[in-house]
Amino acid sequence: MATTQTLPQVDQSHKTALEPISTPERLLFGPGPSNADPKVLQALARSPIGHLDPLYIELMAEVQELLRYTWQTDNRLTLPMSGTGSAAMEATLANTIEPGDTVLVGVKGYFGNRLAEMAGRYRANVQLIEKPWGEAFSLPEIEAALIEHRPAILALVHAETSTGVCQPMDGIGDLCRKHNCLLVLDTVTSLGAVPVLLDTWKVDLSYSCSQKGLSCPPGLSPFTMGPRAEEKLAARNSKVPNWYLDVSLLNQYWGSDRVYHHTAPVNMNFGMREALRLLAEEGLEKAWDRHRSNAEVFWAGLERLGLVLHVPEHLRLPTLTTVRIPDGLDGNAFRLYLLNDHGIEIGGGLGSLAGKIWRIGLMGYNSTPENVERLLNLFEAELPRFRENVSFAA
Ligand SMILES: *Cc1c(COP(=O)(O)O)cnc(C)c1O
Repeated sequence: MATTQTLPQVDQSHKTALEPISTPERLLFGPGPSNADPKVLQALARSPIGHLDPLYIELMAEVQELLRYTWQTDNRLTLPMSGTGSAAMEATLANTIEPGDTVLVGVKGYFGNRLAEMAGRYRANVQLIEKPWGEAFSLPEIEAALIEHRPAILALVHAETSTGVCQPMDGIGDLCRKHNCLLVLDTVTSLGAVPVLLDTWKVDLSYSCSQKGLSCPPGLSPFTMGPRAEEKLAARNSKVPNWYLDVSLLNQYWGSDRVYHHTAPVNMNFGMREALRLLAEEGLEKAWDRHRSNAEVFWAGLERLGLVLHVPEHLRLPTLTTVRIPDGLDGNAFRLYLLNDHGIEIGGGLGSLAGKIWRIGLMGYNSTPENVERLLNLFEAELPRFRENVSFAA
């Protein structure tokens, strides 16, 4: 029944008649997102419940406890931020930097640069130590930079997704304590897939994302903050200059007070709970071993095909392999072929590695012997055609 009230005229110019959504089944072997576990997708599809419902509050505590397990930390302030990895990345800096603080950033790839860019926006005195893309920092290099710059915060990327390097962590936390600075560690492409021992490593702040090692779609970013970082937060002279990411406010919701801050993306947290539950059911040791052993088979297979891996074996990241594109081969054409003809996504290079490498992710749900075999078979059967085509055209 139409109302008798006169309704405003609607401008129809942007109205579009669409079919209901339909998306292809892709295999996501790029740098992320990777495929979500079907059980996680089922959890996401449940009807939402209220974000202050007692049942939801129970679920929040479960997610926090499983995040502590996954990170191997006792940190009280451990929670999933609403937003992708970059949101929790920004939260680690926004909550700890006061204007003028020196922040030393280890840049050995694209994401180190992002940390430096963010720290500058919070008016830190940003200093960089740099390494070529494909290498990691040594302990003496880090200590020399700590002595030179006397930073309040050292920020490092554990798993550099732009290069495929895993930064060795032994001894870095001790150096940070000795030189009285906080240690921020990006574990976006390592959490749940590569050993991360946050408390043993004496890491003060860390962040990750839902869509890489955790087999969840993008949308949440785990965040954790230890007691030394909490002290710096409590001693601030100024408010955290970002309302949405202010951990002292967020903790009034995630802590015992349960005060409304923002509406939690409840379905994303259903998915996160299921993803972390599945990971705990498998066990971290088994998950780490699965990623490592599948990656080793993959690396050996690629080398058997004559391909060159960009990173020396002792620094290689099991979750993300960087392969040098052979001379004279059109790397983008091969990537497009995999996507269009096989529904398989692999990544290209970023920054100084653009056009030089492929980035192939085997993360979380996707790290299986079947996927390794599928990729190796495709490289073996199809890559020669791309070499021929190119040399033919040249
Ligand atoms: C993906 C990624 C990020 C950013 O996460 P988003 O979810 O894209 O915001 C940060 N650091 C590293 C190392 C990453 O791989």
